[in-house]
Amino acid sequence: LEVIGSVEPRIADATRQELTDQRGSLKLIASENYASLPVLLTMGTWFSDKYAEGTIGHRFYAGCQNVDTVEAVAAEHARELFGAPYAYAQPHSGIDANLTAFWAILAHRVEGPELEKLGAKNVNELSDADWEELRGKLGNQRLLGMSLDSGGHLTHGFRPNISGKMFHQQQYGTDPTTQLLDYDAVRAKAHEFKPLIIVAGYSAYPRRVNFAKMREIADEVGATLMVDMAHFAGLVAGKVFTGDEDPVPHAHVTTTTTHKSLRGPRGGLVLAQEEYAPSVDRGCPLVLGGPLSHMMAAKAVALAEARRPDFQTYAQSIADNAQSLAEGLLKRGGKLVTGGTDNHIVLLDVTSFGLTGRQAESALLDAGVVTNRNSVPQDPNGAWYTSGVRIGTPALTTRGFGHDEFDKVAELMVEVLSNTQPGQTKAGGPSKATYVLADGVADRVKAQSAEM
Ligand code: PLP
Repeated sequence: LEVIGSVEPRIADATRQELTDQRGSLKLIASENYASLPVLLTMGTWFSDKYAEGTIGHRFYAGCQNVDTVEAVAAEHARELFGAPYAYAQPHSGIDANLTAFWAILAHRVEGPELEKLGAKNVNELSDADWEELRGKLGNQRLLGMSLDSGGHLTHGFRPNISGKMFHQQQYGTDPTTQLLDYDAVRAKAHEFKPLIIVAGYSAYPRRVNFAKMREIADEVGATLMVDMAHFAGLVAGKVFTGDEDPVPHAHVTTTTTHKSLRGPRGGLVLAQEEYAPSVDRGCPLVLGGPLSHMMAAKAVALAEARRPDFQTYAQSIADNAQSLAEGLLKRGGKLVTGGTDNHIVLLDVTSFGLTGRQAESALLDAGVVTNRNSVPQDPNGAWYTSGVRIGTPALTTRGFGHDEFDKVAELMVEVLSNTQPGQTKAGGPSKATYVLADGVADRVKAQSAEM
């Protein structure tokens, strides 16, 4: 920090403060974690200075031999860890991984067969008229994904996102009564819509998914099954999700981030069955810019860590701790979406405290409890104010929290929420944003969490 501070002291100060904030609060954002020191150090090397567009052994720049090593080691660890025939380590983030996967699927399912029909090796060989026709076909495909308010991600076909614009999209949701995935309803929708791609996976669904069933549905309608395991990759790596709950053997293409429950650097990965591998391998320059070699190196280190036996203990603790947190909230009167959890996420419906998600998130933050507001199914408060807060266990599990600590976290959260009242708008009506947290509660909660 002294070296950084000698150039720009404000960045050194913000970096120091960030450490204080992250270590001094209860970090319960379900998509965050604490990467290890080896992972953090690997991100800060001179690999950042190297350009290496292309793929292993086929670069558009000279002098990429060390980047080749880095990318090959990262891909090898990913294949071994997840039992995948092929792994691509270049995506800079989860969204980039999903875009890479979408275009690889389009290349494999639409572009490849069209080129074959026309006897061309690549699109440069097509006449302008043939190219226009192919472009039309690429832009006319269908995608079925999980809706945002049921727990899906923006990139799963949400209209305002590029995935909702580049595909004709439809969404499946959860059962209005149980709030659980209804596979028969997904099947019916798939048969009616006949998508090219079905996306499974979630950002805010507190339950496991049966990926064997999702593959069955995809096969029935001739769709490619793409699973986005960004959130629960750590639970797959740690063998908490196995058999039908392990997406990798069932999906044609699996994408993930590396920084959530997997506990690596910020970044993405694409895993694929052999037939999709050549298309995914063209991710750069098809979709991606030059690879972030320092980040691929850090992914390799994190994946090596996740292959150690103690990562399985960590992953199991993430799930056990989510149970403890859920039970702690339920026994104190909390209302949970789906009634509980069997992964790393607890989705607390805060309407029972008379609050919106926005009010709850802010009051909790005042007390040093960091969560994010989140829609609940059929949310009456919409996607901005919401009615829930999403709580995740990966980060505090890394800090060594167990059953008793998560029960205490539940107690502290309920103490904050039950001492928070909705505020008023300037005109004197009920506000969805402002709130009043009773005096002394924030300090009391902070003092107790500092002891944990
Ligand atoms: N996919 C899922 C399921 C996610 O939850 C997220 C992030 O929240 C992403 C993709 C996007 O990841 P990134 O922010 O790294 O682009």
